[in-house]
Amino acid sequence: MSTPTADARTNLFGLDRIGLERFFAETLGEKRFRAHQVMKWMYHRHVTDFEQMTDLGKALRAKVQEHARIEPPNVLFDKPSVDGTHKWLLGMDGANAIETVYIPDKGRGTLCVSSQVGCGLNCSFCSTATQGFNRNLSAAEIIGQVWVAARHLGNVPHRDRKLTNVVMMGMGEPLLNFDNVVTAMSIMRDDLGFGLANKRVTLSTSGVVPMIDKLSEESDVSLAVSLHAANDALRTELVPINKKYPIAQLMAACERYVLRRKRSSVTFEYTLMEGVNDQPEHAHELVRLLRAFTNKVQDSDAAKVNLIPFNPFPGTRYTRSSDADIRTFQEILQKGKVLAMVRRTRGDDIDAACGQLKGQVMDRTRRQAQFRATLAQQDVAAPKEPVSATA
Ligand code: SAH
Repeated sequence: MSTPTADARTNLFGLDRIGLERFFAETLGEKRFRAHQVMKWMYHRHVTDFEQMTDLGKALRAKVQEHARIEPPNVLFDKPSVDGTHKWLLGMDGANAIETVYIPDKGRGTLCVSSQVGCGLNCSFCSTATQGFNRNLSAAEIIGQVWVAARHLGNVPHRDRKLTNVVMMGMGEPLLNFDNVVTAMSIMRDDLGFGLANKRVTLSTSGVVPMIDKLSEESDVSLAVSLHAANDALRTELVPINKKYPIAQLMAACERYVLRRKRSSVTFEYTLMEGVNDQPEHAHELVRLLRAFTNKVQDSDAAKVNLIPFNPFPGTRYTRSSDADIRTFQEILQKGKVLAMVRRTRGDDIDAACGQLKGQVMDRTRRQAQFRATLAQQDVAAPKEPVSATA
């Protein structure tokens, strides 16, 4: 069998509806509706073998096969948790692997999807940061994660939906892999794809301000922002990209995002670390920041806070806040009329929680240098500190 990299045929997982229609029309000289038939086989019936696509006709199947393949990521292993959470380690090429996590909850099933192999942003409390950055995932590799989970779950869009939400909160910074992430999110929301509602696809960013504006022009998904601190000194320590795009600029971008779409909101993620950002004064500071934001956009529901108890990993200097401190923090937000939920930690027994995804990243030093160069070109802050190698 040929290896993925040796196969020059187009992997159809990388094309959204428009791309696939174009592929059928321009590359194959076929009608565009053929693209729709193929998408249904891929995403509604989990079929990757053209021979099984019986409504295509023998000659067409042979022609498609000559130019295209449908190749999902390799499942290296998958691991169920006692609480129903499920984690996959997916091989992306010979050297690298990423993680994807499914989290079932009352009436919903959320998949946490990765956008990059590793991450270059160096947030001080995130396990992925310890690996450094290797490369962007292709659109095929991003949607392939959803496909692998959907097939495992026997998910049937519009009928037997086990997968109701996708969050781009796995490894990587999705706004620094913009085009591929937008293409994959379009397949997630397409009726011929996974058919998810716009607001059930969430992109989480550490705060790449210019790309937040670009996202609001090009895609209609929910936005989550990893805030973690309401003052610049502390936020820069936790999320180094804050140095380049400080809180005032970030909040202004969030205002623009909300004002461009009716009844939308931004979810602010706040990971609680003991003695670092979890004290009452931090909560009051957060109330002031978010009240200013909701006043500005004249919508008291425009900001929601997700409080995430810190998930430890080997080598970290942080610890999880106590339950009492988490409760006090939440109460201060609620008294300040800021909507705040505490996110329950799931998949503890399989290291599947936020910030614990690792995968396997090879060759990080050279790639890290390339990543810094790309960031410099994009006028985005490269992390100052060298990436630590505790992984
Ligand atoms: N780069 C994107 C998406 C990946 S992180 C972003 O920064 O938003 C997804 C969420 O998990 C972010 O809010 C991140 O700050 C949080 N997170 C990272 N490490 C964590 C940890 N150890 N414990 C709890 N949450 C963590």
